Amino acid sequence: MVFLGLRRRSADDGLLPMAHVRKSRWKKITAWLTAVSWAVALDAMAQNVQVNLADGFDFPVGKPNAEGYYKSRGLRLRAPQHFGEDWNGRAGGNSDLGDPVYAIADGIVTFAHNVQGGWGNVVITRHAYRVPSSGLVKFIDALNGHLDKIMVTTGQVVKRGQQIGTLGHNSGMYPAHLHFEIRHDITIGMLRNNAPTDLDHWADPTQFINQYRRLNREWRPVPVPTGTYQEYKGFKGL
Ligand SMILES: [Zn+2]
Repeated sequence: MVFLGLRRRSADDGLLPMAHVRKSRWKKITAWLTAVSWAVALDAMAQNVQVNLADGFDFPVGKPNAEGYYKSRGLRLRAPQHFGEDWNGRAGGNSDLGDPVYAIADGIVTFAHNVQGGWGNVVITRHAYRVPSSGLVKFIDALNGHLDKIMVTTGQVVKRGQQIGTLGHNSGMYPAHLHFEIRHDITIGMLRNNAPTDLDHWADPTQFINQYRRLNREWRPVPVPTGTYQEYKGFKGL
């Protein structure tokens, strides 16, 4: 009896820890497999972000033709640089504070954060369009700065003319206006100083919008590149 008891105990001592190790290892393996399959699924989702091709581009204020607004500053790629346009209400001062700011075309929000500093609330939207002369699909980013309110979130699909925010003055830093940029280079994000200052990387917004004011409607969505921005103040973008 004693002998059996001892054997059993020693056998248990040998077996139980082994079973325990196997169980915990299996748990680790299944947890790891779950994590890997989630990572694969998320990666596939990220690569499968799709948008409609733009059927035209509108102005971001005074929808659709900037009616009631004027451009107080334009694009200037030589020093002192201004990488976009400033849009103000014709009534002057802060009369345009809180006015709607619209998505210039169908697209997707790639960045929507209050980054503070000289920027304040920023919304960047990404748009796909087919160049009529070449038939090629290209992408642009449109940046809207100093917004009073942000009304969209990163990753949200937007329609042309959909309100994405309101015009602001960055907590009183400027007279209210919309700072608006269009970039051919969709890697710039919030780090403007890394990009070459030429028209291959930057667009003259008014010129671009007028050039692609109306495009053919296409029904098949196209995949959109994501993960093109470097992190800025802890914000990564889509
Ligand atoms: Zn500006």
